Amino acid sequence: QAPLAGRVALVTGGSRGIGAAIVRRLAADGAAVAFTYSSAKDTAEALAEEINQAGHTVLAIQADSADEEAVRAAIAETVQHLGALDILVNNAGVAHVAPLEDFPLTEFDRMIAVNVRGVFTAIQAAAPHLGQGGRIITIGSINADRIPVPGVGVYSLTKAAVAGLTRGLARELGPRGITVNTVQPGPTETDMNPDAGPFAESMKQLMPLGHYAQPADIASAVAYLARPEARFITGTSWDVDGGFAV
Ligand code: NDP
Repeated sequence: QAPLAGRVALVTGGSRGIGAAIVRRLAADGAAVAFTYSSAKDTAEALAEEINQAGHTVLAIQADSADEEAVRAAIAETVQHLGALDILVNNAGVAHVAPLEDFPLTEFDRMIAVNVRGVFTAIQAAAPHLGQGGRIITIGSINADRIPVPGVGVYSLTKAAVAGLTRGLARELGPRGITVNTVQPGPTETDMNPDAGPFAESMKQLMPLGHYAQPADIASAVAYLARPEARFITGTSWDVDGGFAV
């Protein structure tokens, strides 16, 4: 039997990149999966259609993670269409890189709104629907722990914040049999961080494995944490980074 058969998952920011790989993987492992996106409607609907045609169950929902009403509505829609939620994956995230002296506060606020507040509001809205065996998995970043280039301080702040939130909520939700973990990717080939150009070359030199992750590499760690057999893993931040943090 598929390891996630009968489970219902919601992935935020699932239309592209790492989120799309997580949607594909959880669906292939047998879960019914809803995912949100903010603007890429055509991409999102094409992804859902492709996976549904392969015989799985996937639902695309427009919801900006910075809008708490939209996040709550997405969770309600997931429960209504797919049934009680078992797995929440907080993947939606944005990055802005700029030096301290030029860093726009609008970008600071946007990163906090999506990467931190959006994660919190999704967990707050999902928690009442999660039962024994529930899973909350947040995509942080290895930049929470290692920042080898300038300009990434605010992004790092947001990813360190969700690692802390993970530990605190693991404590709070553990008695209900719900695990809470963070996966911290290293450089991963997506629109946010293309595997090309001089920036990518310098990143590769920092990694013992010497190459970028593919989104599926991150999805496989998420899929493992989502499985019933990962029931004793909680409050951790898993580095899936090709050794970036070494
Ligand atoms: P992409 O920019 O390639 O994709 C982002 C996805 O999130 C898209 O599906 C996008 O949907 C969605 N999204 C963006 N903003 C919002 C929002 N406000 N509300 C809802 N959905 C939103 O990013 P990645 O796949 O690279 O990154 C995914 C996660 O992984 C992020 O949290 C990122 O910080 C983290 N990460 C990425 C690394 C990398 O090297 N790529 C390394 C470490 C961590 P739409 O197109 O509709 O806007």
